[in-house]
Amino acid sequence: PPLYKQRYQFIKDLVIKYKPKKVADLGCADCTLLWMLKFCKCIEVLAGLDIRENVMKEKMHMLSPLPADYLQPSERSLTVTLHHGSVAHKDPCMLGFDLVTCIELVEHLETAELEKFPEVVFGFMAPAMVVISTPNSEFNPLLPGVTLFRHSDHKFEWDRAQFQTAATRYDYTVEFTGLGTPPPGTENVGFCTQIGVFVRKYPKNGETVNSEKHTEHAYKTVNFCCF
Ligand code: SAM
Repeated sequence: PPLYKQRYQFIKDLVIKYKPKKVADLGCADCTLLWMLKFCKCIEVLAGLDIRENVMKEKMHMLSPLPADYLQPSERSLTVTLHHGSVAHKDPCMLGFDLVTCIELVEHLETAELEKFPEVVFGFMAPAMVVISTPNSEFNPLLPGVTLFRHSDHKFEWDRAQFQTAATRYDYTVEFTGLGTPPPGTENVGFCTQIGVFVRKYPKNGETVNSEKHTEHAYKTVNFCCF
């Protein structure tokens, strides 16, 4: 399967393994990953955030309940919410999540946004688990036609050392992995997509955290549905 599908499947596999109840996808674009995750029975809350409202709205109808959801109501309830806003801003609607995914997002951030990103995601949202994926620039010479970056909107592409240093840890342990293995003889370049899986070291005390984190809303809700 193409790499973007492998990335979605990687998240789906993590969800099946760790059974998070609340999952947020930052930079959710056309909501394809959210749509895939809606079929994971463990999930009760799904949230998406993107700075491009129109892209988010394109296929948003896919997230709505299907006739079958009404005909055969299940035990679990599912709430899906889409927010328009930037990962450079804190909003209390992103508190209390078990898993936050950032798939091919960071390389699209402007310098000022990238500087705020770790504090927003690890410091403020502080979910139990964070997954970040980004291109591994060491793989680029193996990709035909790639001169500088893989996509014209990329602000940078990191090699493995740069990603691993940039991945500010706060109170998280991290494991680095990836997807897209290089052809035989070129194994030293690493995976095509590099992935960091961050796990929060300490469980948090919900009440103190929430009162400390009283923050104004910065995102706009664009869609909300309940199953
Ligand atoms: N995660 C999706 C996937 O893997 O298919 C989409 C990745 S797409 C390459 C990057 C997305 O990040 C775009 O939809 C873009 O609008 C969004 N984005 C860029 N800057 C952002 C920001 N500051 N806050 C939230 N989303 C942002």
